[in-house]
Amino acid sequence: MSKKNFETEAIRTQIERSEFLEHSAPIYLSSSFVFEDAEDMRASFAEEKERNLYSRFTNPNTTEFVEKICKMEGAEAGYAFATGMSAVFSTFAALLNSGDHIVSCRSVFGSTHALFTKFLPKWNIETSYFKANEVEDIEKFIQPNTKILFAETPTNPGVDVLDLEYLGAIAKKHNLILVIDNCFATPYLQKPLDFGAHIVVHSATKLIDGQGRVLGGVAVGPSDLIREIYLFSRNTGPSLSPFNAWVLSKSLETLAVRVDRHCENALKVAEFLESNEHVNWVKYPFLKSHPKYEVAKKQMKQGGSIVAFEVKGGVEAGRKFLNNIKMCSLSANLGDTRTIVTHPASTTHSKLSEEDRMEVGISDGLVRVSVGLENVEDVINDLQQALSS
Ligand SMILES: *Cc1c(COP(=O)(O)O)cnc(C)c1O
Repeated sequence: MSKKNFETEAIRTQIERSEFLEHSAPIYLSSSFVFEDAEDMRASFAEEKERNLYSRFTNPNTTEFVEKICKMEGAEAGYAFATGMSAVFSTFAALLNSGDHIVSCRSVFGSTHALFTKFLPKWNIETSYFKANEVEDIEKFIQPNTKILFAETPTNPGVDVLDLEYLGAIAKKHNLILVIDNCFATPYLQKPLDFGAHIVVHSATKLIDGQGRVLGGVAVGPSDLIREIYLFSRNTGPSLSPFNAWVLSKSLETLAVRVDRHCENALKVAEFLESNEHVNWVKYPFLKSHPKYEVAKKQMKQGGSIVAFEVKGGVEAGRKFLNNIKMCSLSANLGDTRTIVTHPASTTHSKLSEEDRMEVGISDGLVRVSVGLENVEDVINDLQQALSS
């Protein structure tokens, strides 16, 4: 069938239906699948045919979820994981050998940072960091043993924007595998593979589920690299459960309409904050004041759901603001229907040293808002009363 538009692929990509002709995908809660006979068993294990053997390898529900994401990201192949972190870890573990080196943006998700600093070094894999706002420096950190270039954009929690086209060109020039965590943007707003990325990873826990229900992750890219990731994962077992895959596949059907509203609301929240006297500064990719506004416009369809800002008055004012929030949730998640307000310095990034936090731009007064799908007037009213009290 001919290639369809993004929203249609998200809805109409589906696994084969059973004899009951279900309209909506059923859940295949089965850990294994039976063989017709000895020959079928042999041929299946020899990978002479594509079929489900065991749900640690593949399952119809994870296959449907992966096929959708691949179409949405424009990728050849993919593999689904139990969490975003297992997607990130398995990508590194599958593609790197002892002695290899990573160049990564300094502003990455807290657990990814822990992987780089605490765990990958156990296998003699070291990481060097460039600053989110100093991408021109990347080449300084590339060594003969560098194999992967890694970044998130927009970054968490500072909402910095990295130029994907530039990263793609650097990766090409130095023959590196460019891995992009596309969690904040989702494939609806940004397709890193179009700019030269090789692998895209996601925490599906965030906007892909979008309703704060299940954990999940996925990695997509060219068949040869994904095959390495698949072989590593089917043996080590970080696979996504069929139930979660079913939830996530359903969620993708509404991704575009949800993200449209998230972005519309987030821009209004960002504009409100920018005009508020108790706020030092606001960062949102589609605000003209964002230092990388032009880059954001080039590579993103809209600005996303996350707004970062700094409350005037440091830690005390920040804590007071959070304590005065009445409706929005104080939670560590993001990309939910419910607006979530977090204080990275005391939560997600509390394990970083003060110096490291400053280097990635996490001041004590930094607040991250994951703007939800409530009526935006109610969100703004809540933020406003918390800022003025
Ligand atoms: C949440 C998050 C992750 C980790 O995902 P989990 O599903 O919680 O394991 C990775 N990267 C980014 C950017 C995230 O926001």
